[in-house]
Amino acid sequence: MAVQKKEFAVIGLGRFGGSICRELAQLGMEVMAMDIDEERVNEFANIASHAVIADSTDEMVLKSLGIRNFDHVVVAIGDNIQASILTTLILKELGVENITVKAQNDYHEKVLRKIGADQIVHPERDMGRRIANNIASNSVLDYLELSDEHSIVEIIANRAISGQTLQALNVRARFGLNIVAIKRGREIFVSPGAAEPIQMGDILIVIGADADIDRFEQFLAK
Ligand code: ATP
Repeated sequence: MAVQKKEFAVIGLGRFGGSICRELAQLGMEVMAMDIDEERVNEFANIASHAVIADSTDEMVLKSLGIRNFDHVVVAIGDNIQASILTTLILKELGVENITVKAQNDYHEKVLRKIGADQIVHPERDMGRRIANNIASNSVLDYLELSDEHSIVEIIANRAISGQTLQALNVRARFGLNIVAIKRGREIFVSPGAAEPIQMGDILIVIGADADIDRFEQFLAK
């Protein structure tokens, strides 16, 4: 992945925050790791660029760390909703450009939205949904929710469509869907041509409305 070097701060080093911190460091980013718990901070001393023991609900501490100069701050305090909200509020007031916060539930998300968090994530809920979709369907391998009603899904081509060209299958007219790429083994065909025949086991990257994707899945299952 082509990445631009940026400075990040990750507040809360549980499994989620810890994983973000490790990955950012792996990507060569400057990362400040912060937690109120000394042991957790020690674990990141050799991973992050800086690891600090601090209470993020203390405005003076955040100020003295120059938090507003970071490009992006991730608030990964899950259980203590009050601390998560207060931290986000302070970051916002201090003028941090980009704030990503892990939400524990829908109420938490609502408040975070109100106070201006730029990105709100629900890792457990989203991963749960993804896995449920994956195990419930015989044809969907993975999916990415674009909105409440639209997704990008990976669908495996079975006997129902193998051998057909994209033109013959015509998912755009029949299902209102677009096949944006085809994965075949190690190869990937982006914007595949209409004459491209689909092979058994091809993975189709399909974008569209969830209801249309469901119809296509049912067609494949027949
Ligand atoms: P995960 O589900 O990601 O594993 P967790 O359950 O391990 O999370 P949480 O209680 O959600 O942990 O909190 C994540 C981290 O946030 C903990 O390591 C905790 O010490 C830290 N934390 C909580 N409050 C503060 C605070 N005010 N300032 C800094 N860090 C905090």
